Amino acid sequence: MNIRLELIVFLLFISVIPLSAVVYISYDYSKEAIRDSVTASLMGATKNAGNAIDSWMDTRKDDIRIISSIAGSSEKEQLPEYIHTFESEREGVYEEFFIINLDGNITLSTLNRTGYAGKERYFTEASTGKLYISDVSFSSVTGLPELTITNPVRKNGTITGILGARVRMEQLYMLIESIDVGKSGEIFVVNNKGELIFHRDRSRILLEKINNNLSVKEIMSEKSGIGEYTNDKGEKVLSSSFWLLIYKWGLVVVKSKDEAYAEVLALEKLIVGISFVAFFCVILLAFVISKQITKPIEALKDGAHSLVRGHFKPIPTSSKNEIGELTIIFNQTAKELLDIREKLEAKIEIANKDLEEKNKELIAANEELKKLDTMKSDFISLVSHELKTPLSAIRTSAEFLDSEMTSDPKVQKEMLENIIRNIDRQTRLINDILDLSKIEAGKMEFQFGQFDIQEITTAALETIGNLALEKNITISVDIPVELSPVFGDKEKLIIVLNNLLGNALKFTPNGGSIFLSAKEFEDSIEVRVKDTGIGIEKKELEKIFEKFYQVDGTSRRKTAGSGLGLSISTGIIKAHGGEIYIESEPGKGSTFCFRLKKFEKK
Ligand code: ADP
Repeated sequence: MNIRLELIVFLLFISVIPLSAVVYISYDYSKEAIRDSVTASLMGATKNAGNAIDSWMDTRKDDIRIISSIAGSSEKEQLPEYIHTFESEREGVYEEFFIINLDGNITLSTLNRTGYAGKERYFTEASTGKLYISDVSFSSVTGLPELTITNPVRKNGTITGILGARVRMEQLYMLIESIDVGKSGEIFVVNNKGELIFHRDRSRILLEKINNNLSVKEIMSEKSGIGEYTNDKGEKVLSSSFWLLIYKWGLVVVKSKDEAYAEVLALEKLIVGISFVAFFCVILLAFVISKQITKPIEALKDGAHSLVRGHFKPIPTSSKNEIGELTIIFNQTAKELLDIREKLEAKIEIANKDLEEKNKELIAANEELKKLDTMKSDFISLVSHELKTPLSAIRTSAEFLDSEMTSDPKVQKEMLENIIRNIDRQTRLINDILDLSKIEAGKMEFQFGQFDIQEITTAALETIGNLALEKNITISVDIPVELSPVFGDKEKLIIVLNNLLGNALKFTPNGGSIFLSAKEFEDSIEVRVKDTGIGIEKKELEKIFEKFYQVDGTSRRKTAGSGLGLSISTGIIKAHGGEIYIESEPGKGSTFCFRLKKFEKK
């Protein structure tokens, strides 16, 4: 569940639950209040109706009592007129007034009725001296509902007869009907047998017995009250009952529950409507508030993602609260992180380049090592060869001398010279190796001093002079006398010059020429040894300065040499702070040059 959803749930939780509780409690409270007021008003209406019936009946009883007392006190002749007047004043309330003598015979009737009524209950009951009210029954004259009230007629305290009145119910019915019980309200009155004695549908009066009605049952047990039940039409109704004790009549007011509780229903609808609106508002608010709260958090999350992916853009700060502060801190941190990242990337790039370089160097060094290894193998086989050859020669010569095959002293001398030459050759080779190892180890000792170039050229020329003559090679020399002195180790430089001149002699065919010259430059003297020899191919030029390297070729391998001369010469010249180089073309000869620093007076 994401934070927004959690927030929505939380907001709904804290708002919907109290809201629901408030709505429910207020609804319940209002509903009960409305119900109470509805039942109170229904019971009030019922009671009013009951009181109206009571008062109407009281008026009737009073009427009868008045007429009874008038009948007891007035003259016989005046009584009929008087009763008629009284009756007409009551506007059709009374059907008939009649008087019964103590024998039970009707002596006076406003309907001129005669006959015996001594067995009627209204006669016997009233004869006991009290007012009697009969049940409601259909009139034998009009066929309409009526009741009979009888009261004894007294003269000087003695009962002289019974006054009766047949009372039409219609006026009472109209009175009951005038009571407002609402559109769906219905009033009816039952007697103690459950027979309808009033209903707005007159056709039901005295013809129907209602005793399954809850209120009627209540009344039958002579109780007043209010209750709910489902009527014979299946409608839910609210029924209020009122027991008229004197007449043993039950007044029932029935009202449709829907109408009675219309206000409750309206309240229900209102509350449901308000609840819907409120819930909708709460949900809307929850969404809006959660969006507002989570928006900057979402922006932070997106920012963090983009930071990880490396294309971060500062997050706009929309609020000044804690989240706003967090956003500012995040932006700053992200910027610093990106800066660090950039720097690290740059460092890594440099380190990578370095590594590449180092790798290249390692590869080159490895190649070099491989080359050295090959050279070492070559050297070992070469040295073995170079050492073996003179040794074989020495052995042959020595064996020859030992065998005494010749006593010719000339031949013997030749053999001895051969032995000495080969020993020299071996000595040279060993010396060369020793020199080179000293140079490479930086252990060669130098005796630096000031001298003229001529000193070393003269010494070197002396060494090779005879050999040049042997090969009929012309040596030209151009060493200006005015050359500045140089600074160096004379003996070592003689070795260099010997090597260069020796090579020139070795690799120049008979009859060729060698040119030795020197030239002064601003701060150095250049010495050149030029020959008209076999020359060197371009691709070999750099290699010949490497130790043990000899340009491959059968003709050359025949020439003596170890491939160390130029390496030793280079080492010596470099130890002087000078340089050695070559210009050459195959078949056209070679020129070896080296430069030495001039001697500087301090
Ligand atoms: P080496 O003892 O073989 O002379 P160096 O180091 O002096 O050894 O010379 C290396 C190689 O350079 C020689 O074997 C030769 O092949 C070549 N070289 C040197 N000097 C000359 C030259 N003047 N003319 C032609 N090739 C030369």
